[in-house]
Amino acid sequence: MRIGVPKEIKVREYRVGLTPNSVTEFVRHGHEVFVQSTAGDGIGFSDEMYEAAGATILPDAAAVFEKGELIVKVKEPQPSETAMLKPHHTLYTYLHLAADAVQAEGLRKAGCLSIAYETVTDNDGRLPLLTPMSQVAGRMSVSVAAHCMQKAQGGRGLMLGGVPGVLPAKVVIIGGGVAGTHAAEMAIGARADVTVFDRSNRRLAELDEQFSGAVKTAYSTAAALEQAVREADVVIGAVLIPGAAAPKLVTRAMLKEMKDGAVLVDIAIDQGGCFETSKATTHDDPTYIIDNVVHYCVANMPGAYARTSTLALNNATLPLGLEIANKGPKEALNANPHLARGLNTAEGEICYKPVADDLDLPY
Ligand code: NAD
Repeated sequence: MRIGVPKEIKVREYRVGLTPNSVTEFVRHGHEVFVQSTAGDGIGFSDEMYEAAGATILPDAAAVFEKGELIVKVKEPQPSETAMLKPHHTLYTYLHLAADAVQAEGLRKAGCLSIAYETVTDNDGRLPLLTPMSQVAGRMSVSVAAHCMQKAQGGRGLMLGGVPGVLPAKVVIIGGGVAGTHAAEMAIGARADVTVFDRSNRRLAELDEQFSGAVKTAYSTAAALEQAVREADVVIGAVLIPGAAAPKLVTRAMLKEMKDGAVLVDIAIDQGGCFETSKATTHDDPTYIIDNVVHYCVANMPGAYARTSTLALNNATLPLGLEIANKGPKEALNANPHLARGLNTAEGEICYKPVADDLDLPY
């Protein structure tokens, strides 16, 4: 199969769909790989490294989409990329369609198969291709929060861990899945006072055991959250309802009750955000302030640590990418129900029910 790897074009996005080592794996299985020139430059993967791995370097995205059948990316296609997708293409990337009606319409019109990393499942019912980025975003959310707490950033001027004789900051994490757990790990490491909310009692029990009581766990009800948010210095939103838009758990009204200079980090912004006042920001201009509460809502957080993220993502996407290429997309989707869960659009239709429901489109 012919694999195309375009350069990512979202603001400050330096990740790339395939590393040179992953290219070697595709080539070893008899596939041809076409990489856009300078696609990996930002994270130290030069055109020469891709060529040495067996790829052909092409000058622009148009050439990559022209040659490639399986297009491997990181972020959702931007309008100029969607315009180049044709029915014979299979797109393998993050899509987050539930919060993006324009893109869903573009992919329907393109008629391609699109497989969204974030809805592929595994035998444990987890989302293995979302996991690595959630790990990065979760860990990063705490360093971002620590930065936003500085006075110069509009924060309370409070250190996460305090110092001897001074109480630590109260960090509330909503959603104790992959991102939330990694956030908790870092927040405990920084010696903050950490509470994790979740709706899964099993998850809360696992967290209690994993952290030997070092995090407080609480069942997520509207009333319990409201009280915790009022007392928090930092709130990290890390909820997920797979494939669906995130529920708005912190309302505009709750913001007025929060401490001046408190910090909200909305990791779930790529699913529309779990705070009513969240709107997606970029690494160039990551924060804004409403009611004296600092909001950090960067939709592609792992892009900041693009090299770590690309390597972690490739570890997760490579086996299924090879399966798609080796069997052919349709056969691979028929043979593997977990991969089939990733199929979000095909032949002009939305084929993932939560996306269709959220966008009010036929399924
Ligand atoms: P996950 O499925 O591992 O965890 C989500 C958790 O949220 C689950 O434990 C679930 O029980 C819990 N939850 C659901 N509804 C809840 C509620 N009302 N109250 C409290 N908890 C609730 O998901 P994840 O992999 O940790 O991803 C979390 C979010 O982070 C997703 O929206 C994902 O798209 C996003 N994400 C964003 C970035 C970014 O750059 N902004 C990067 C990676 C992941």
